[in-house]
Amino acid sequence: MLHMKILIRFDDIAENMNWHLMNKCEALFDELNIKPVMGVIPNNKDSELLSYPKNDNFWRIVANWQTKGWEISMHGYNHIYDQETNKNDFFKYGGKSEFFGHSLENQLSKIKKGLEIFNKKKIKIRSFFSPNHTYDHNTFKALKLSGINQIIDGYGLKPYLENDIKFIPQLFYKPFFLPFGLQTTQIHLNYWSEKDFNNFSKLIKKHSNKVVSYDEALRLTSDNLRDKIFNFFIKKILIFKRVIF
Ligand SMILES: [Zn+2]
Repeated sequence: MLHMKILIRFDDIAENMNWHLMNKCEALFDELNIKPVMGVIPNNKDSELLSYPKNDNFWRIVANWQTKGWEISMHGYNHIYDQETNKNDFFKYGGKSEFFGHSLENQLSKIKKGLEIFNKKKIKIRSFFSPNHTYDHNTFKALKLSGINQIIDGYGLKPYLENDIKFIPQLFYKPFFLPFGLQTTQIHLNYWSEKDFNNFSKLIKKHSNKVVSYDEALRLTSDNLRDKIFNFFIKKILIFKRVIF
């Protein structure tokens, strides 16, 4: 059984965000030598997110994170939800989507335009996760056609391969740890108070020896039958829970 490992994933990283808490997190990670995954929105047009303070040095900061070994991941293109999934999305999360339901051409164009921005800023991208966890088969096709075959989402306790894509599971919304398996925490700094940061800081200091980098998480990828069965049951249980509650 794989002992507990923690991958830290930040969502909604963009020019406009809670920079005060971002700076505090960065200092904490430097102190503990932690390398998180930063989900960057390349062309943020989400009006809710745009209401946060803007940092004009954004792309220089992102490049610096990459130099430090932090993983820069693509979190959608513009973060505008213009589709309703009605729980027909690949992971059955439901809710609104930027990608689900759009044509392959539309999804491909957004991913390509996003990658062009990263390219211009000299940021290397190998992974993606969609706003609101919502995908359809065209999302996977568009990603693969753009050379991206790693997605930080999905159900399981170890990364796994499906449809020629490596999924790095993301199970819970809150820092909530099971005693085993890879746990990807999902952090939305914009919704955090100072108290949330202090709680997170305490938790991470306590478990800092269990925090892994993205590369270390990828090395946990498993194709063995026992892990596949485990992932299958976790998926069933979590989807069932979501349908019931
Ligand atoms: Zn998001």
